[in-house]
Formats: sequence, C-alpha cells, structure tokens
Amino acid sequence: MHYHSTRGAAPVLTFEQAMLTGLARDGGLYLPETIPTLSHADIAAMAGLSYEEIAFRIMRPFTGDTFTDEEFADLIAKAYAGFGHAARAPLVQLAPNHFLLELFHGPTLAFKDFAMQLIGQMFEFALKRNGERVTIVGATSGDTGSAAMEAFRGLEAVDLFILYPHGRVSEVQRRQMTTPSEANVHALAVDGDFDTCQGAVKDMFNDFDFRESVKLAGVNSINWARVLAQVVYYFSSAVSLGAPHRPVSFTVPTGNFGDIFAGHIAKQMGLPIEKLVVATNQNDILHRTLETGVYKTEDVQPSISPSMDIQVSSNFERALYYAYDSDGSAVAQQMNDLKTTGEFTISQGAISHLRDLFASGRASEAETSAAITRYVEQHGELLCPHSAVGTHVAESHLGTTPMITLATAHPAKFPDAMQAATGIHPPLPKRMADLYDRPERITRVAGDLAAIQTIIKERI
Ligand SMILES: *Cc1c(COP(=O)(O)O)cnc(C)c1O
Repeated sequence: MHYHSTRGAAPVLTFEQAMLTGLARDGGLYLPETIPTLSHADIAAMAGLSYEEIAFRIMRPFTGDTFTDEEFADLIAKAYAGFGHAARAPLVQLAPNHFLLELFHGPTLAFKDFAMQLIGQMFEFALKRNGERVTIVGATSGDTGSAAMEAFRGLEAVDLFILYPHGRVSEVQRRQMTTPSEANVHALAVDGDFDTCQGAVKDMFNDFDFRESVKLAGVNSINWARVLAQVVYYFSSAVSLGAPHRPVSFTVPTGNFGDIFAGHIAKQMGLPIEKLVVATNQNDILHRTLETGVYKTEDVQPSISPSMDIQVSSNFERALYYAYDSDGSAVAQQMNDLKTTGEFTISQGAISHLRDLFASGRASEAETSAAITRYVEQHGELLCPHSAVGTHVAESHLGTTPMITLATAHPAKFPDAMQAATGIHPPLPKRMADLYDRPERITRVAGDLAAIQTIIKERI
C-alpha cells in the first residue's frame, strides 16, 4: 500500500513512513493510493466480534508490510487494554432512532485516545526496530495533547512536545498535560489560540533544517494513522445496529475534520452510511463552507466546546482532494490562496461533490447549553458540550435511518460548563480522582516560531 500527498508533489511513502512523517514535504497530507473495500459478507462477519478483532480487520489492509499479523494484533491489544469499558466504544440509546456512541472510556476521557493509544504503540515498535529516536511536536486545543501525553509518556524512542493555547483549555485538560512526570514529555503553554499553535507546528515541518536536526514527527490529526484508527468505531457501531443489512447515519462534532473524515473513509470502504453530518459550534467554518462554497477563516470565538474552537480545519484538505478527483495541483492552488488571502473558493463540481457527501449544522453557545440541559432532563444523559453540539445538530437530521451521534468526551472533562447547564458537577472516574493533587510542570512560551524551536532544541 502506497501513500500520496494531497498536493501531489511529495515522495510516495509506505504506511510506516507516512505514519512517522505526519505532514508531507509539499505541505500536504498523506492518503492511501486506493481505499480497500470490504464486501457485504466481510462486514456481516463482524457481528459479535470484539472491538480489537474488528480493528484488526479494518486496519490491516492499510498497513502493508509494516507489521506481521501477530505483531499488529498485539499492538492493538495493548492500545485498548487501558480503556475503562469492555466494549471500548459502547452505544447508548437516546431515542427510538437516535444513539450515542460513547468514545470517552479511554485514559484521558476523549475519543482521541482511540487513535493516540494505538499510534503510541505503533511508533515505539517501528522506531525501536529501526534503532531511531524522534521528536514529536503537536498542537492541541486540549484533548489531543492530553491523549498524546498519556500515550507517549515513558516511551524510549520519542520526545514529545505539546503546544496548547495558554488559558484556553479546561483545567482537567491542562492538568492531564502538565502532570505526567516522565522526562520525555513536555507541555508548552503558548500565547495565542489553537490556530497559532497549529500554525507553529506546520511551520516547523516546513523548516527543513529544523525538521532534520530534531528528527521531527507529527501525531496531529493530519497523521494518516490517526484517521485510520478512527475508522474502526464507525464499523463497530454500525454493525451492532444491523449493518450492512441496514444503513446508519452519523453526526460528528467536528473541528479539524479528522473524525468525520474517518467516517467518510468507512463509507468508501463499503459501510452503508446514509448521512454524514458535520456538527460545528459557533466556530462554524465547515458549516459555512458547505453552505457557501467559500472557505474563509475568521477569528476564533472561544466556546464551551473548546476542542472545536478552530478556524483552520486541516483534514478538510483530504476531502477536498477527493472532491477535486485526486488533483493535487488543484488542492495546492487552493491552499496557496488560503495562505495568501485567508480564503479560497471551491469549484462548482467540487462543492457539489462535498454536499453530496456531507450534511452540516451548527450549534450556538445557547443551543449547546440548552441541549445539555434537555438531554439530562428528558433522556437521562449527561453530555459533554461537544457531544451536545452533536445531538443538537443531529436532531434536525433524524429520520427512519438510525442516527449515531459521536460522544467525543466525558462530561467530567468540562465540569464548569456542566455545572452551569445542569447544576451537576460530574466526578472524574476513580482511576484519575487524584488529578487535582498532582504537581504541574508548565513552560510558558510566546506564540513565536523561533522561541518555540529554541525550547525544543534545549530540551531534547
Ligand atoms: C478533537 C475533538 C473534537 C473534534 O474532532 P476533529 O477530529 O478535530 O474534528 C470534538 N470533540 C472533542 C471532545 C475533541 O477532543
């Protein structure tokens, strides 16, 4: 299996290389040259299997020669062993045709653990085998950073630096990043917003001297291996509701477009998905883009669903690449427009392709809070603000096909918003009850590329 860049001008790589590289050298994102498909019978045969077994069957066709079957099965087993629910991604029924996919039973209580725990195992395995050591730098609006810290702390082949926007992550998120004591993981509090952090990471990848000198690798949601790991729960949940015999729809709280793009891959692999609904908070660039055909960034408005406070949605580039019929130079042109003018206009053909694939909606702050309150009162479910954005938007798309809304984080990760909307202060699960007592290690840094690079060089 070979991987190509969405901008068409970077080396073609294997799965292992694409995973270890992250961002392509032409600034693009890696995608497999073809999407393997599963037959009706292959999907039907997943009924009743464990999450790990389904994960193996979904991901194996993408990994090429990187692992033997035995090695890969072993890495998957280790990745999900620390989850707090035997089903890994259990489904809860909210209403006759509306289901919640709980993706928050991992070690940091958000869906990012699904990909990050696996990527930690895969990186360590591949790097040790090659006798290499890398520096991973990632930007986070909160959950990626904590998931990465948890997945990489104490590993031998990796130094990890996480850039988060100072003062813009929840206290639980911050503590999950600043309390691990292992010397190979570092939390940097950057002056700026998430896009400042993500911009700095992208610039570091485009600074080839720096990139070589620290052996830079990325685990942001641009990393193909992360997208791949997220394809699995689309299958596991759909199969438990009767796929492939009956189609399902999904609503996905979205920021960087990674999670919903994984749903798109699941559909291309043959999973009968009727609707894929993009749910945004008030930072609604994706919803606006699908409505208007113009992708135009605005200032980020901090919200109670901070993990979706994004205006530059990196993985959208992957969807764009398919919408432009795999024409990397067309994508490169659009991304260049974005860089120089802050916007780009999608061609008629490409936008109608995207509209066929994705429906969308947004939830304002008031609508998000109201959804949290309503779901406690009427459905007995305590939803985190991101998941509440999802259920709010999903309600406009309910029909005869079962709708699965992704619950992307545990409510205890956002106690202030929960308290305000419901009066309930959700307790942390027992295994992290002492989070508020652990000492923090924080490095504050200006939102400036050179300053960040200096700190990284000093620490590795
Ligand atoms: C990261 C995150 C999202 C957005 O996911 P994307 O893949 O970036 O679209 C939504 N909810 C929570 C809780 C998250 O951590």
